[in-house]
Amino acid sequence: MTEPPMILQGAARYPVREIILHCSATRPEWMANAPLSAKLAEIRRWHMQDRGWRNIGYHWLIDYDGQRAAGRRETNIGAHVVDHNRGTIGICLIGGHGADADDQFGEHFTSAQARSLRALIADIRSRTQIAKVTGHNDYAAKACPGFRVAGWI
Ligand SMILES: [Zn+2]
Repeated sequence: MTEPPMILQGAARYPVREIILHCSATRPEWMANAPLSAKLAEIRRWHMQDRGWRNIGYHWLIDYDGQRAAGRRETNIGAHVVDHNRGTIGICLIGGHGADADDQFGEHFTSAQARSLRALIADIRSRTQIAKVTGHNDYAAKACPGFRVAGWI
């Protein structure tokens, strides 16, 4: 018998069973000509300087063109949803400024982002036992990620 794969987070080795989606809440023109690495660096700066965290809070970023960048390591506990950071992976879609929680995915994000996000979710599922995929707005009175994940997934 082989054990099903499981990503474990932090010194306490919390098993990762959930993916939580976010958006950067930035306008479409924000750093539009900059590479994703520069956007990652800027969001990391917000999280470290403005919030005092040790690193970017998210584990992954996905840009409009579908390109993906790694933030915090998946084996480290993230900082993206109060009381739901242990055993979860946070994915942030670039965009979503002015979004409402009940908007449609396609109002703020691209089909390339949708494809990349679905591929990333499938990849994570192959490496740990994901029980659910949710959005920040499932846990807080926020618009983030700017659509209802249960309806999109
Ligand atoms: Zn969020």
